[in-house]
Amino acid sequence: MADYRAPLKQMLFTIEHLADFKDVVALPDFSAVDGEMTASVLEEAGRFATGVLAPANWLGDQQGVRVVDDAVQVPPEFTAAYARFCEGGWPGIASNPEFGGQGFPKAVAIACDEMWASANVSFALCPELSQGAILALDRHATEELKQQYLEKLISGQWTGTMCLTEPQAGSDLAALTSKAQPHGDRCLISGRKIFITWGDHPMTENIAHLVLARLPDSPPGTKGISLFLVPKYRLNADGTPGERNDVFPVSVEHKLGIHASPTCVMAFGDNGGAEGFLVGKVNEGLAAMFTMMNYMRLGVGVQGVGLSERSYQQAADFARERKQGRAPGAKGSVPIIRHPDIRRTLLLMRALTQAARSICYYTACCLDRGNHAADAESAATWQARAELMTPIGKAWPTEIGQEVTALGIQVHGGMGYVEETGVAQFYRDVRIASIYEGTNAIQAIDLVGRKLLRDGGAAVSAFVSEMRAQDAPLANAGEDFAAVRQALARGLDEVVLCSTYLIGGEKRDPELVSAAAFNYLMLLGTVIGGWQLARGALIAAAQIGTPGSDRVFLDTQVLLAKFYAEQVMPRALAHGAALRTGSASIMALSVDNF
Ligand SMILES: Cc1cc2nc3c(=O)[nH]c(=O)nc-3n(C[C@H](O)[C@H](O)[C@H](O)COP(=O)(O)OP(=O)(O)OC[C@H]3O[C@@H](n4cnc5c(N)ncnc54)[C@H](O)[C@@H]3O)c2cc1C
Repeated sequence: MADYRAPLKQMLFTIEHLADFKDVVALPDFSAVDGEMTASVLEEAGRFATGVLAPANWLGDQQGVRVVDDAVQVPPEFTAAYARFCEGGWPGIASNPEFGGQGFPKAVAIACDEMWASANVSFALCPELSQGAILALDRHATEELKQQYLEKLISGQWTGTMCLTEPQAGSDLAALTSKAQPHGDRCLISGRKIFITWGDHPMTENIAHLVLARLPDSPPGTKGISLFLVPKYRLNADGTPGERNDVFPVSVEHKLGIHASPTCVMAFGDNGGAEGFLVGKVNEGLAAMFTMMNYMRLGVGVQGVGLSERSYQQAADFARERKQGRAPGAKGSVPIIRHPDIRRTLLLMRALTQAARSICYYTACCLDRGNHAADAESAATWQARAELMTPIGKAWPTEIGQEVTALGIQVHGGMGYVEETGVAQFYRDVRIASIYEGTNAIQAIDLVGRKLLRDGGAAVSAFVSEMRAQDAPLANAGEDFAAVRQALARGLDEVVLCSTYLIGGEKRDPELVSAAAFNYLMLLGTVIGGWQLARGALIAAAQIGTPGSDRVFLDTQVLLAKFYAEQVMPRALAHGAALRTGSASIMALSVDNF
C-alpha cells in the first residue's frame, strides 16, 4: 500500500466542504461528532488499512480461497486481520449505538470504506456486506431477531451476507424460485443461490444470511418475494450458535479479480430445509432487501474510488522513478513524470478520483440528512436527493475506477502488464464493481425511469438549480475561474436539455429510456463531479494565505478544477449529444445481424 497521509488531507477536505459536514453534525443524532474526532478516526483507519489490510492484499490475490469438506478456507492472514478489525471496533463504526455501534455518520464511515477498499477490497467486502445486513435488520426485523443478531453483527463477532442471485434470476429478480415453507414460527428455506460473496468462511463463529425466497401461494414476479434471515448455525436458547443449519457452500467461483473474496454457490435446504425467519412483511421482501442493496450500492461506488486512489499513488511514484526519453531543457534521460502526456494521465487519474470521491461522500451526506433529519420536510428533501444520487454514486465511480486503474497500468508501461508491480490487480479487482449490486446499465435505467421520469424531473431540476447557484461565486472569483464557470454552465445546460428530451420523448419511443440511460448517468456524474471540484476550488482559493493553510494543497484544488473543466467536462457534452440521437440507430440492426 502506498501511503494514506496524502489522501487523508484530501478526504478530510472532501468531508468537510463537499459532503456538507457541518449540516450533518448539526443533526441531533450526531451532536457528539466533530471535525477533530473525525480526523483522528480517519488517521487511525489509514494506519490500519496501510499496516494490516494492505499487506494481505497481494497474498490473498495469489492464494485465493477454496472449499474443503463443505467449508470455505481463506488465507490465515485474513482471519488474523479480521480479528484485529473487530478489536478496533471498525465493524460498527456507523451502526446504531443501541446495539453497541459507534453511531458515526455515513459521511465518516464512507471514508473508512474507501480506505478498506483501497488497501484490500476482497477483505473489505466482508464487513461491507455485514453493514448492509445490519441496516436491513435494524429497519425491518422483529424486536426478537434484533436482540438475537444485531449486537453480534455490529461487534463483528458474526458476519452477514446477501443472497439474491440464482442462475435464472440475476438482474431480473422476478424470476427467483427459492422456496420458503412455513414451519411453526419459522420457515424452511430451500433453493440454490449463486455468486454469494463471503457466503462461507472460518473468520467468525456464525453467519447471518439474508435470503430472498417465495412463500407458498405468493403471487408471481417481484410482488411474491419475502426476505428471511437464515443463520449458518441455529441459535441455542442462550443466543449462542448451536446446531448446524441446512445451508452449505457448494463451490467457489474462479474469477478475474477479488480472488480472496469467496464467491459461493450456496445450497439451502438440501437436507430437509434451512431454518429461516421472516424479516419485514410477507411478499415485501424486495423492499426490505432494498435497504441493504442501496447501502451496498454506495459501498460498491467507493470501491471504485479506493482502487483509483491506490492506482494513482502507485503510478505517481513510478513516474517519479522511471527514466525514459528526453525533455526540453534537461540533460540525459528524464523521469517520465517530466513528459506532458504522463502528467496529463496522472492529472486525469487524480481529478477523476477526486470527482468520484466527492460524489460518494456527498451521497453519504444526503443519506445522513435524509435518515436523521429533525423534521419530516427535510427528511423528504434529503431522501429524494439520496435516491437520485444512489445510482450515480454506484455507477459513475465504478466506471471511473475502470478508467483510472487502466491508466495506472499505462503509466507503468510493460511493467504495468506484469503482475509483480501490483497495478494489474487493482484493474482486475475493480472490474466487478460495475457488474454487482445491479449492473451499471440497471443503475442508469433506475436513474432515468424512477428518479427522472417518475416525478417529471422535479428532483433533477431542484439539484440543477442548486448547482447553478455556484455561477455567481465563480463569476466573482475572476478570470482564473472563467473556464471552470463556463464548463459548469454548459454541462448544466446539457443536463436540462437531455432531461427535457427524455421526459418528452419517453412516451413516443418505448426504447428510449434503455437506449439513453447510460449516457444520461455519465452526463450527470461528469457534471456533478465538475460542480464538486468547482466548489472545492472556490473554498480553497478563499483559504489561500489564511494562518496555517497549506498553499500547495489549496493550489492543487484550484488546478484540479481547471484541469477537469478543460479535459473532462467536454465529455458531458459528448454524452448529451449521443443521448439526444435517441434509439433509432441503436435498434436498427436486426438481432440476426449482430
Ligand atoms: C464476484 C461476484 C460477487 C457477487 N456477489 C453477490 C452477492 O453477494 N449476492 C448476490 O445475490 N449476488 C451477487 N452477485 C451477483 C450479481 O449481483 C449479478 O451478477 C448482477 O446483478 C448481474 O446479474 P447477472 O450476472 O445474472 O447478469 P444478467 O442479468 O444476465 O445481465 C447480463 C447483461 O445484460 C444486461 N441487462 C440485463 N437486464 C437488462 C435490462 N432490463 N435492460 C438493459 N440491460 C440489461 C446487464 O446490464 C448485463 O450487461 C455477485 C456476482 C459476482 C460476479
